[in-house]
Amino acid sequence: MIPIQNTEPTHWTDELVHAVKTPSELLTLLGLDDRHLPSSQNAMSAFKMLIPRPFIARMEYGNAEDPLLRQVLADDIEMQPNAGYSQDPLDEGNHTPQKALVHKYERRVLVIAAGSCAVNCRYCFRRHFPYSDNQLAQQEWDSVIHYIEANPSINEVILSGGDPLMLKDSLLSKHIARLNTLPQLKRLRIHTRLPIVIPERINAELLQWVEDSKLDVIMVLHSNHGNEIDNIIAKKVLQLKQAGATVLNQGVLLKGINDTVEAQVALSERLFAAGILPYYMFTLDPIEGGAHFDISIDTAQRLMGQVAQKLPGYLMPRLAKEIPGEPAKTIFAPL
Ligand SMILES: *Cc1c(COP(=O)(O)O)cnc(C)c1O
Ligand code: SF4
Repeated sequence: MIPIQNTEPTHWTDELVHAVKTPSELLTLLGLDDRHLPSSQNAMSAFKMLIPRPFIARMEYGNAEDPLLRQVLADDIEMQPNAGYSQDPLDEGNHTPQKALVHKYERRVLVIAAGSCAVNCRYCFRRHFPYSDNQLAQQEWDSVIHYIEANPSINEVILSGGDPLMLKDSLLSKHIARLNTLPQLKRLRIHTRLPIVIPERINAELLQWVEDSKLDVIMVLHSNHGNEIDNIIAKKVLQLKQAGATVLNQGVLLKGINDTVEAQVALSERLFAAGILPYYMFTLDPIEGGAHFDISIDTAQRLMGQVAQKLPGYLMPRLAKEIPGEPAKTIFAPL
């Protein structure tokens, strides 16, 4: 069910250091020549390329249309202006009571714990977000804690980013220990793509703070295609579950990458085989630079209608979109 990969375990921070940053190196690793190279200089200066090697290992050698490759290879088509696509499509600038905190929905607060990611996804809705690469300073963490204490209805903290697992475990466990002391909190959620691109990120230190947390821990991974899931990830997910975490996945519906019935069915089945339940499948946010990945809501609903005929209900992600001003994610029924 899940393809076997044999690679030597490395420390995750080494994988960050050795991540591929140029199209030519990426194509060489995949046995592709320059003919397959879209012009990318402008796209790269707007949003640099960054791809860890364990993710590249899951791309198909010689396939210029590989669905993993297409998610990360810069392409100047991103630079074409498109009406209706903006730099802050989710209007998050208007919902930030303080730096690093997004409180849009009742009882859940989202903390932008780190500004950077281990991979730069070309469709990313946060690609224009004015993050610094820095993690939150101690005093910003203090003000997050004060904000939560001042809002007793908050019972779930979502660490997001960027990618919150870019933080060192020593720092994460310190922050989480502090959250553990707030009696109002029930759940800690981590939104991360890091374990997908560098499975070694799930290390002993991380498993320890998951296990030690008094809060229920939910790890929401981000993968978009079944080929992203292999036996190494399955092993890491098992360890997470043994440490007490619930493991879910959210993906983005992307034209040319996962917008077919086969791709969606394979993704859900691979996820389940690796111990992960599908949670959300988002339609693309209208981000400047992402228009060429977009499909209409109508098309998405019809696609998911066909997918629903093939999958048990528990393997159907909710087709969702974040609409500024709404009190929750908007869910679209499969048609
Ligand atoms: C998506 C999101 C959440 C979480 O929503 P759920 O439906 O609970 O997954 C919370 N806060 C913000 C700002 C979000 O964008
Ligand atoms: S990992 Fe998530 S936040 Fe980071 S670039 Fe990819 S989609 Fe964006």
